[in-house]
Amino acid sequence: MSADRAAGVGAGAAVTLGLDLGGTAIKWVALREEIVVASGSAPTPRSGAEAVVEAMAAVAVAAGPLEAVGVGVPGLFDPDGTSHGLHNVPGLKGRYPLGAALAGEVGAPVRLANDARSFTLAELRLGAGKADRHLVGVTLGTGIGGGVAVDGRVVLGRDNRAGELGHQTVDPQGALCGCGNRGCVETFASVPSILAGAARAVLQGVDTSLRAACGGVVSALTPVMVTAAAADGDPFARDVIDRAGVALGIGLANVCNIIAPERIVVGGGFAAALEILRPSLEETLRRRARPVGACPVVAAGLGQHAGAVGAALWTREPLR
Ligand SMILES: [Zn+2]
Repeated sequence: MSADRAAGVGAGAAVTLGLDLGGTAIKWVALREEIVVASGSAPTPRSGAEAVVEAMAAVAVAAGPLEAVGVGVPGLFDPDGTSHGLHNVPGLKGRYPLGAALAGEVGAPVRLANDARSFTLAELRLGAGKADRHLVGVTLGTGIGGGVAVDGRVVLGRDNRAGELGHQTVDPQGALCGCGNRGCVETFASVPSILAGAARAVLQGVDTSLRAACGGVVSALTPVMVTAAAADGDPFARDVIDRAGVALGIGLANVCNIIAPERIVVGGGFAAALEILRPSLEETLRRRARPVGACPVVAAGLGQHAGAVGAALWTREPLR
């Protein structure tokens, strides 16, 4: 556990714990009412599902008396708390009774939520969208996550699956996506897709500053190298970034036309890319969200712990 856990969290009234389970880190917050009284992160164990549960339980025990625990997961889950398809979390690719296992360890109710829907709920209630009733949340990272709020509630849909903005088709003949479809927004705008586009430019021998940036070793390319090269005017890096912005803009325009949001909030591990994506993203949004009109696209208000805050808030939402 990181050292930023506030001393004495365990003293006093019970807290609601929010855990944001990722492939490399478990971020957490302790909420009292709507105030974050402590936060931190712990590395995600590499040795399997039971170790992941133990790591989350250790955070929970240290947080003190608990009202409830919410867990934002990067994938799917059933109403009984069985997770599945958490491809990025070691040992949790298949079906696993994550909710029950954690509840057994911590002695408090545990509710699972999708991580991007958690991000969206947090931004809707306490973050950049707190003045809005109709909001779209997007998380940029290894994948493109999403959440949609209508009339002040995050829409969950059948089996909690609504909001998969990253899996809208923008190119019917495009690259295969992890979901099995072709040409999803995610195949243009996720970090691996952007890196693949940059690597292709280097390998094809085009005249790009990315070659020098990575020393000619494409596996050494990082997202920051690509965004920095694009910002410096490298035409090939700019092209990769602009194609990502256009794809994301098409996906967001589709959602605008359907729910007419007041705002789009962008977060996730690659959220810093928003400003470099913004010109192509906003132009596409303006051109394609014609019936409804574009809305402001803003950075998340709650920082890197938004997902954990939302996971905690889900424990207070009515079951539906
Ligand atoms: Zn997809």
